[in-house]
Parts: sequence; C-alpha cells; structure tokens
Amino acid sequence: MFCRHILVSLGVLGVISALPQAASAQDHIYSLVIHGGAGTITRDSMTDETEAAYRVALSDALMKGRAVLESGGTALDAVTASIMVMEDSDLFNAGKGAVFTHDGRNELDAAIMDGRTLNAGAITGVTRVRNPITLARAVMEQSRHVMLAREGAEAFARDHDITLVSPTYFYTERRYQQLLAVQKKDKEALLLLDAPGDHEFGTVGAVALDKDGNIAAGTSTGGLTNKMWGRIGDSPIIGAGTYANNKSCGVSATGTGEYFIRATVAREICALMEYKSYSVQQAADQVIHQNLTRLGGDGGVIALAHDGAIAYSFNTEGMYRGQLTSTHPEPKVEIYKD
Ligand code: ASP
Repeated sequence: MFCRHILVSLGVLGVISALPQAASAQDHIYSLVIHGGAGTITRDSMTDETEAAYRVALSDALMKGRAVLESGGTALDAVTASIMVMEDSDLFNAGKGAVFTHDGRNELDAAIMDGRTLNAGAITGVTRVRNPITLARAVMEQSRHVMLAREGAEAFARDHDITLVSPTYFYTERRYQQLLAVQKKDKEALLLLDAPGDHEFGTVGAVALDKDGNIAAGTSTGGLTNKMWGRIGDSPIIGAGTYANNKSCGVSATGTGEYFIRATVAREICALMEYKSYSVQQAADQVIHQNLTRLGGDGGVIALAHDGAIAYSFNTEGMYRGQLTSTHPEPKVEIYKD
C-alpha cells in the first residue's frame, strides 16, 4: 500500500516517466529481424543457386547480429553488424550491390535510430562510402545533426575515419543491365502511355532488441533503379523508412519510397502500438495493407516490439527476410509470401 502510494505520487510528479526507458520485465531476452528487400520475388523467377545464395547471405547477416546480442552487446551494434554484411554482398540493393541512377551513378542512403534515446542519424546521396550505415551511425553519435547529404556527408565521413572507396566499387554488371532494362521498358511504356510494371526492391534493414531491453532500427539502400540524381527515398527519412522507440517498436521498410514517405510508415506503426495498443503485427498490417496500399505503394516492413515480438508485413509477392531470438537462436530465413 505504502509502496503503491509512493509510486502513484512519483507518477503524478512525472518522476517515473523521467526514468530511463531501458531494462524492463523482458530482461535478458533478445530478438533480431532483418530484410533484404521486397518485390516480385516468386519461386518461378528464382534459380536454386540464387535462392541458396540469398539464404546464405541472410543467415550470415543474422549470425553476425546474434554474436553481438548473445554476448550482451547493444541493439545498435547488432543492427550495424547485420546491415554491414548485406551492404558488402552484391545481392542486395545497398552498399556493393546498389542500383544505378538514371545517369548511371550509385547514390546511397541510410539511417539508424536508437529507441532508448530517440537519437537518430541519416545520410543521403553518398557515392564513395563503402558502408553507409556506419556513416549514418557516426552522424548520430558524433555530430549535432540528424541528416547529412552528398558532399557534406562525404566530408564528414573523411573526418571521421569512415571507409571510403572509389565510386567504381559499386559497379556491378547485374545492376547496370537492370538500369538498361528499366530505361528500355520506360521508353516503351511512354510510347504505349502505360506505367512501368513490376518492381523488385533490394534495400536492407535490421531491427534488434538487446538484453537491456533497448531497440534499434537501421536501413540502407541504393534507392530505386533509374531514379533522378538527387532523389531521396524513405529509407533515410526518420519516421518513413526507419524508426525506433523503446516504448513501442522498431521498424525498417522497403518499397516505393515516395509512398512510404507520404504514409509515414515506420512511425505510424509505432504510434498505433503506443496510442491504440495494437499488437506489432496488427499495427504493421494496418499500415501496409490499408494505409500504404490505398495510396498505391508497394513493399513491406520488418517490425520488432518492445517485448521482442516480431512482425513482417508486405503487399508484394515476396520479401527477403529472416529472424532469430534468444529462445530460437537459429536463423530462420524466408523469401516467398507462402
Ligand atoms: N525504399 C527504397 C527507396 O525508395 C527502395 C527499396 O526499398 O528498395 O529508396
């Protein structure tokens, strides 16, 4: 009774809500969920070798993150580690495998957010940063800003020992052929007054809950094939493609960025949990299958609740995705809708 009295008084004075939002009832559990993009990914369109390569890469990314979480590391470190594996693989549209802009360049975007402090870092339009997620993190931790763009972001990278590479590092024949194919299709579509068809996205993202009960989310991308130079998608926009808050959830998105920005997808999912007590799956489904789909957007999200529950939601044929938890530590990788 006495305790309750004190707690109520502290609550009224606003003291309880001022305590750090860290360790909680879920102490010492961890969860990790990742994605490698969504789109028209069907069994028919995939060879056994390609499917196996994606499964190995996603498992590697999960295991890198798991090593961090298992040893008591932070959600931020786990997210960074998992995303770096996917950025270094040419399978995904991030880092090494980034898609090309209309004029044949690679412009990379990334963001990371800490659900404990609500600190965030984002970078956009960089052409020489090998692992854009590391630069987003440096912006969050070592600058007083949230987002840096283009030459400014690269100058910051140089000053903060972030690994830089020649822009030619990002050239892959597969992505270049995709650019040529999209440009040809666009030209034909214009002649037919028809809109371009199927998309395949390959953005990468990770969301983790660490043993201290803290959530982090991150996303890294080359954007959309054939995008205009200077175009910025949802991935580096806090609240659109990336968001984390210990009170509710962490989210990373992939899809037609313009729609994800307008639907503020990532923040909306967390807000439905925080203000309307939706489960993480209900919130993700509401935003993807109702709000985003109604606007005309394609893609999906991974989301992770403060209690470690994991949700996927996407309105495409498939999404490269995987998860593991402290109770099921073996990587579970999935690609197709069913
Ligand atoms: N959402 C990314 C963008 O619009 C693309 C993707 O997910 O592949 O930049």
